[in-house]
Amino acid sequence: MEKAPGIVVIGMGLTGSIAAIHLLRSLPDGASLTLIEGPEDIDRRHAGHGGRISVPVNIRAAHMSALEDDPAHFVRWLWARDVPSPQRRLVPPTGHTFVERSQFNDYIDEVLRVALAEHGSRLSVSRLGAPVTGITRLENGDYRLLTGAGDTVMARHVVLCLGSLPPALPPQLAGLGAADERIIADPWSASAYEKVGAEEAVVIYGTGHTMADAVLALDAQGHRGPIVAFSSRGLLPQEHDHVRPYPLFLDGGDGALGPLELLRRVRREVAGTGQRYGWRSVMDALVPVTDALWQSAGEAGRRQFLRHLRPYWDVHAHRLSPNIAGRLSVLQVQGRLRIVPGRLVSVTAEPERLRVVLSRRGIGGQWRLDVGHFIVCSSPRCDYERISDPLMKALLATGLARPDGLQLGLEVTGRSELIGVGGGVTPGLYALGPTCRGQLWEVTSLPDIRAQAARLAGYLATSPDELPVLEQA
Ligand SMILES: Cc1cc2nc3c(=O)[nH]c(=O)nc-3n(C[C@H](O)[C@H](O)[C@H](O)COP(=O)(O)OP(=O)(O)OC[C@H]3O[C@@H](n4cnc5c(N)ncnc54)[C@H](O)[C@@H]3O)c2cc1C
Repeated sequence: MEKAPGIVVIGMGLTGSIAAIHLLRSLPDGASLTLIEGPEDIDRRHAGHGGRISVPVNIRAAHMSALEDDPAHFVRWLWARDVPSPQRRLVPPTGHTFVERSQFNDYIDEVLRVALAEHGSRLSVSRLGAPVTGITRLENGDYRLLTGAGDTVMARHVVLCLGSLPPALPPQLAGLGAADERIIADPWSASAYEKVGAEEAVVIYGTGHTMADAVLALDAQGHRGPIVAFSSRGLLPQEHDHVRPYPLFLDGGDGALGPLELLRRVRREVAGTGQRYGWRSVMDALVPVTDALWQSAGEAGRRQFLRHLRPYWDVHAHRLSPNIAGRLSVLQVQGRLRIVPGRLVSVTAEPERLRVVLSRRGIGGQWRLDVGHFIVCSSPRCDYERISDPLMKALLATGLARPDGLQLGLEVTGRSELIGVGGGVTPGLYALGPTCRGQLWEVTSLPDIRAQAARLAGYLATSPDELPVLEQA
């Protein structure tokens, strides 16, 4: 018997898994849920790289619960498994610890497994393993999805959890492109670094978290050659440390003051009362209001933020676990890793090497580097209009979705419904996670993804079978 159209979740990375967990727990009896997993060549399951390298999550365990209504769930899960030993310290009551990503992956997998076991029998749940390549909205408002395996899936509500795209290639590589095997264009691919020789010199474009993972992945596979990582400001994410609860000093509506005024206020706070707490505590006091600040900033304020403050926000708000920061600084002290501010001038492919020319900020002149590989670890690609992914192309071509005005992802409503090409809501079609950065700036890490997924699950739980209604945005 053919399954009645219900809710379909596309993509089962961190966002899709969290969405599925919340939907399983909240949908009413008899509701139909289909979970579709995409290609398996991505090695960044749940929080950065999956299990390929031994690295910790960059957010303290206290904030990594899978469940929105149970913030201590992950810490309790860890405590239940905590076996004291000389090598391992117990997870402290504050949850200030940074677990291995493989352990976090096990946690998410287990919570999903338990939710499927507990709720699978009262719902109608199916799982498919094939990328969705096409989507059509039918006259009755349902959606027809086509998978790469040739299957058709009908849906009343579709939840896109497609994640971030790999970084865009810098224009200086346009002549070489991904065709040159010495350019590693997808730093998250499971096999990305296998071809890098142990003694090869490497240049990395980007100095953020993906760069950190790339460096540690190279180190883990025995790479001993020199690595130069550069970005326009050469800023490395700051390291986590203990924080104390700092009083809220901004109102969510203060975004309207503009990002430069907000920066002044943060600095004043850090230099004043905040001195006794540390700047990290002051930054973390912004977490509960970041979303509201982003909303109240308006498009002009958001643009200003992206142009002037984004790099500083990124390195102070998204900090490195002490373990990763420590390993990077050892490599820097050993002279194996250099992090420099600079601009890419050119990359020339020669038979024996890539010749990379950088213009170093503050020093001037040009710096020529001969390297074996060039790894692109800059921010994820956001120019959705130029993406070759078939599903994304279909969404844009049919007008069901449109890029947001800041070119950070797709435009969505506060309820995470996509906005179509004419500016109207596309009923029943939702996006969660990094695709929604234009609407929810911080929705790339678990706490914000979880909140967004829980909101949508709560909404869908009240009307899973109703036909979505066409509304104006
Ligand atoms: C280096 C690094 C460190 C990080 N550290 C942390 C951290 O410590 N804590 C934290 O919370 N976050 C962290 N993040 C962020 C976090 O890893 C990502 O934001 C998160 O993985 C996003 O999950 P996602 O499911 O949205 O995307 P993804 O993990 O990319 O998953 C998307 C899924 O969608 C599937 N898919 C795509 N297209 C289709 C299709 N057409 N059909 C079917 N399936 C499809 C893909 O196969 C994939 O499985 C880190 C990120 C990086 C890069």
